[in-house]
Amino acid sequence: MKASSCTVRCWAVVLAVCLATPQLLDARVTPTHGFDLFSAQEEVQAGQQAAAQIPKQLPLLPDSSPITQYVQHLGHELAAHAPGEQWPYSFHVVNQKDINAFALPGGPVYVNLGTIQAADNEAELAGVIAHEISHVVQRHGTRAASKQMAAQLPLAILGGIMGRGALSQMAQLGLSFGVGSYFLKNSRQSEKEADLLGADIMYDTGFNPQAMAQFFEKIQSQGGSRAPQFFSDHPDPGNRVEYVSAEVDTLPRKQQYRSDSDEFRQIKQEVAGMKPLTAQQIAAGQKQGGTVGLPGADVTPSGNMRSLNHDYFQISYPENWQVFGDRTSAVTIAPQSGVSQDAVAYGVMINVYQLEDPSASLDQDTHALLSSLRQSNPDLRQIGNDESIRVSGVPGRSVDLIGTSPVRDQNGRPAQERDWLVTLERSDGNLLYLVFIAPEKDFGSLRPTFEQILRTLKVR
Ligand SMILES: [Zn+2]
Repeated sequence: MKASSCTVRCWAVVLAVCLATPQLLDARVTPTHGFDLFSAQEEVQAGQQAAAQIPKQLPLLPDSSPITQYVQHLGHELAAHAPGEQWPYSFHVVNQKDINAFALPGGPVYVNLGTIQAADNEAELAGVIAHEISHVVQRHGTRAASKQMAAQLPLAILGGIMGRGALSQMAQLGLSFGVGSYFLKNSRQSEKEADLLGADIMYDTGFNPQAMAQFFEKIQSQGGSRAPQFFSDHPDPGNRVEYVSAEVDTLPRKQQYRSDSDEFRQIKQEVAGMKPLTAQQIAAGQKQGGTVGLPGADVTPSGNMRSLNHDYFQISYPENWQVFGDRTSAVTIAPQSGVSQDAVAYGVMINVYQLEDPSASLDQDTHALLSSLRQSNPDLRQIGNDESIRVSGVPGRSVDLIGTSPVRDQNGRPAQERDWLVTLERSDGNLLYLVFIAPEKDFGSLRPTFEQILRTLKVR
């Protein structure tokens, strides 16, 4: 029985209810906090230190993404029912295809986009998050690290760091909670604990706890090549469905559970068209240093303009910016320090979009182009409505977008990016389009330059 903060009167009520319905049981799992060298404060600090490194190692969707916001909402709803210490939970979505999720000590929880794509209803996704929250509650990460440290340290030191200095001692031993850390790989015992506690959290939030066990069994049988990472971090303890059933039998029976929501179905539609990165692609990006460094002084546009003659257009641009591409290809005009091998942080990309349906309207063409741009920039979102625009007499559309910048903010997270898309109808029916790009914080100061560039454009 749950007896935490019950008054005498409350006990009397519980007793009366128990007597009236003898089959009513209420036996929640109590967090088992085993040997741990970390104080609660150090636990939070350990997780936050590791979390600060994550954006450099994994492609996170920005907090402004509707997908992240949905997962945050669901996560906090579940976390409100987590027993024990009230950790500062936070929820993040990794733009990664593999089905996986992990939690850092003291609250940060990460869910891969592939997990959302694989979940058939809200209850299944809630199961994964409840399971991760339970790893936090049970402090599995710091307990695993404590075991390792106890094996490596002399007793005298061990006694001295109990609850103070465990974190710095851990660093001295060269141990950490980063991506791929040994301490984030759970034992089968930890897995079973997280399942049982997760079952209670699911139940208390209104979900059928079986959805969690069934999702794990489903990805094991169907997941193929996308799930091994999950089972390497969360090894299958076996008989999940059976022991979760046994746990549910200890709780008051419910007539109905929530299993899905309109929000989940909307998010499912959104993620269905996205192409998250594979673990290999992420590792390759790390090696190439795929992100743009701090922009240099050349981002500030020179007042002098230079012109570019392209087969499809003519345009002028600040003379201290560079042209990447040639007169027949797509071109990017940007400050040297604003581009990397595969990303543009500052500048303008100009290209021709070949239409599949030449009879479609400019509006339809612009939206077809937008969907194709989203294939490689899944975060791209339109803000406001398209507007009609004329550039040197040619009719077009102007669309404001936000997305994720390759530039990192001061906290190491991907900054938000503002993109201004202009599409123009060519006489052959195809679209000439320009995307003006800058991080949100710099877009306002570059906008006059972008408008000046656009005014010089002549479509051929
Ligand atoms: Zn687990």
